[in-house]
Amino acid sequence: MDRTAESSPELDISVVVPVYNERENIEPLCRALHEVLADLGRPYEIILVDDGSTDGSWPELRRMAAELPRLRCLRLRRNFGQTAAMSAGIDASRGRIIVTLDADLQNEPADIPTLLAAMSPDVDVVSGWRRDRKDPFWTRRVPSMIANSLISRITGVPLHDYGCTLKAYRAEVLRAVRLYGEMHRFIPALASWVGARVVEVPVRHHPRRFGRSKYGLSRTLRVVLDLITVKYLLRYSHRPMQMFGRLGLLLGIPGLLLIAGMSLAHLSYLAFGTTLGAELIKRPFWLFTAGGLVLTGIEFIAIGLLAEVLNRTYHESQDRPIYAIRETVESAG
Ligand code: UDP
Ligand code: MG
Repeated sequence: MDRTAESSPELDISVVVPVYNERENIEPLCRALHEVLADLGRPYEIILVDDGSTDGSWPELRRMAAELPRLRCLRLRRNFGQTAAMSAGIDASRGRIIVTLDADLQNEPADIPTLLAAMSPDVDVVSGWRRDRKDPFWTRRVPSMIANSLISRITGVPLHDYGCTLKAYRAEVLRAVRLYGEMHRFIPALASWVGARVVEVPVRHHPRRFGRSKYGLSRTLRVVLDLITVKYLLRYSHRPMQMFGRLGLLLGIPGLLLIAGMSLAHLSYLAFGTTLGAELIKRPFWLFTAGGLVLTGIEFIAIGLLAEVLNRTYHESQDRPIYAIRETVESAG
C-alpha cells in the first residue's frame, strides 16, 4: 500500500511546515503565508504539522484552521523530531510542488515566489541559501559552515546551506525520498543521486522573535553521524564488504606485522641477547590498549551501520511510517 497522497491535478503548491512549541509564531506565519500565496494566483494548500507541542500550539492551529481557508493541520502523537514532522506533512501533501519552511518566521514567506520562479522546467529542487544568517556565530554558524562544506564534499552536491528548511521540490522527487533520523537536510543530495537537478537561491533570514530554538551545538554531532550513514548508503550499502573488509585489512595487516616484528625481536634476544627485543617484550601493554580501542571503535561504527540497514528494512518492507498521526483538522472553506 502506498501511504503517500497523489498529486492532485488542480493543486499547484503545498507548503509544509513543522511546528514544535511555536504558539506565538503560528498566527503571524499563517497570515503571512496566505498573503504571499494568494498573490501568486496559483491553487495552494498549507500543511502545518504539530510535532507533539506542549505549549498550546495545537489549539492555536485549530483556531487558525477554523478561521483561514486552505489550511490542514496534523498533530503527531508525540515529539518525533523535525524530520519526521516534515515527512508527515510531505506524505499528506497533494500539490505538484512542495515548499518547506520553518514555523518560527526565521524564513521569509515572501521568498517563496523567488523559489518558485527558480523552478524552471528542468529544475527539481530549489534550495534556499541564508546568505546573511541571523543565528549565534560560534554555536550555530561556524559548525554549520563546516558541516556544509563537509556535506558538499562527501555527497558531491555542492550547496552553501544544507540546513535551510526553506526549499522547494517537485513532489514526485520528494515523495520518492524516504527520510530518517536528521535526514531532511540531506534531501537535495538524496534527490540529486536519483537524478534531480538542484539549484540554489539566496533567501532572507530573520532572528527568532518568539519561542526558542530547539537545537544547540549537539546537533552538529548528529549531522556528522547522519553524514556517515549517507556516505555509506551512497557508496557501500550494496557492497558492504568493500568498506568493512578494507577497514579490517587496514588494521589487521599492521597488527600481524607488529606481531611478526615482536617475535623476531624476541628471537634475536634469545639468540644474540639484543636488548631492543627485551625492551619490546617488557611493554606489550600499549599494543593491547590501542588494539582494544580501535577494535571497539570499529565495532561500534559497524553496529551503528547495521542498525541503519535494519531500520530501513523494517520501515520499507512493512511500509511503516516513522510517525503516528493523532488527528487532522481542515479548514471548513
Ligand atoms: N521542529 C519540529 N520538531 C522538533 C524540533 C523543531 O517540528 O523536534 C520545528 C520547529 O518548530 C521549527 C523548525 O523545526 O519550525 C526548526 O526549528 P528551530 O527554529 O528550533 O531550529 P533553528 O532555526 O534554530 O535551526
Ligand atoms: Mg529557527
